Amino acid sequence: MKNWKEVEERIKNSKHAVILSHRSPDGDSVGSSLAMYHYLKNFINRVQVITPDPAPKFLAWINGFEKMVNYQDHEEIVNQELQNADLICCLDFNTPSRMGDLEKAFHLNKEAYIINIDHHQDPDDFANFQLSETSASSTCQLVYDFIAELKGTDKITVELGEAMYTGIVTDTGSFRFSSTSKHTHNVVAELIEVGINPGQIHENIYNNYSIDRLKLLGFALNERLNVYDQYNAAIIYLSEEDLQKFKFQKGDTEGLVNYPLSVAHIRMAVLITEKDGKVKMSFRSKGDFRVNELSAKYFSGGGHFNAAGGISDVGVMETVKKLESIFPEYEKELNA
Ligand code: 5GP
Ligand code: MN
Repeated sequence: MKNWKEVEERIKNSKHAVILSHRSPDGDSVGSSLAMYHYLKNFINRVQVITPDPAPKFLAWINGFEKMVNYQDHEEIVNQELQNADLICCLDFNTPSRMGDLEKAFHLNKEAYIINIDHHQDPDDFANFQLSETSASSTCQLVYDFIAELKGTDKITVELGEAMYTGIVTDTGSFRFSSTSKHTHNVVAELIEVGINPGQIHENIYNNYSIDRLKLLGFALNERLNVYDQYNAAIIYLSEEDLQKFKFQKGDTEGLVNYPLSVAHIRMAVLITEKDGKVKMSFRSKGDFRVNELSAKYFSGGGHFNAAGGISDVGVMETVKKLESIFPEYEKELNA
C-alpha cells in the first residue's frame, strides 16, 4: 500500500518516531536509518534509531551514529521507545523476522503507523505504507525517492547526504553491481550538489581499518579458501578462533566474500563465519546464478539474486561439507 497523502500527514502529526534496522546492520541499513533520522527531525521532536545488535564501527563517523541504541545492550530503553512511538520506520528489510530478537519489541506496539522502505525480494505485507522496489540499488536510494515524492529534497543537508551516499556506495560495491542505474548516479549527483565529498566518504569507509583486519584478509585467502573448479565456486570459512586470532571487530569481514569473484571463472563465492557460536553465511554470485534461492532453500536465508545471506545450524566445517554436498545440484547452472 502506498498512500502518499496519508504518510505525509502521519509524519507531520507524529510526536515520536523510531527507525528500525535488520540484524548485523550494514552500510545501507545504518545509512538509510540515519538519512531518515535527519529527514524526520525536521518534523518530529523525538526520533530514535534502533538496531537489533551494535552497528559496526567503520560507520561511526556518520552524523547521528552516536545517538543510535541497540536492543542487545539496551533492551529496556528500546522497549520503552517502541511502546511510546506513534511512527515506526522499518528500513532495508522485507519481513519483521530480519530484526531477530528485536521483532518481539516491535510487536509490543499495535497502534503506530508503520512505514517500510526496502529493496529485497518478496516483501511481507506488514506496513501501513510500503515502498518496496527490488530493482533499486539500495534502500538509501529509495529513501531519496521517498523524500523527493514528499517534495522534501530541500531538507537534504550534507549530514543527511553523507548517510545516504554511504548506503548507495556500499550496496552497489562502489557503483559496480548491476543494480547501479542512471537514477543511482542522478541521486548521487544531487547529493554532490548539496556538498557531500565522495572521496572523503570513501576514505572514511574503506581506508580506516586496522592492520589486524588486513592480516585477517591475507590469512583467509591463504589458509581458508577452498576452490571448486568443477562448480566454478569458492568457499572462505573462518571459525571463531580464527577471528579472535586477528582481534576481530564487527565489520572486519565486510567485503571479504567478494574476493573469489575476482577470479575469471568463479561464479559463486560463499563466506562462512562463526561468531558467538552462531554460523553465518554470505553468498555472492556473478551473472544470473541466484544465490538467494540456494540460501533460502538450505540456510533459512534470502536476499538478492547476486547477494544473499543465511545461517547454518551446524558448525563451520560441517557447513563446508553441507555446501560441498549441495554443489552437484547446481552444477549445470554454475557452468552455464
Ligand atoms: P550479507 O552477506 O552482506 O550479510 O547479506 C547479503 C544480503 O542478503 C543482504 O541484502 C541481506 O539483507 C541479505 N541477508 C543477509 N542475511 C540474511 C538472512 O539471514 N536472511 C535473509 N532473508 N536475508 C539475509
Ligand atoms: Mn540494502
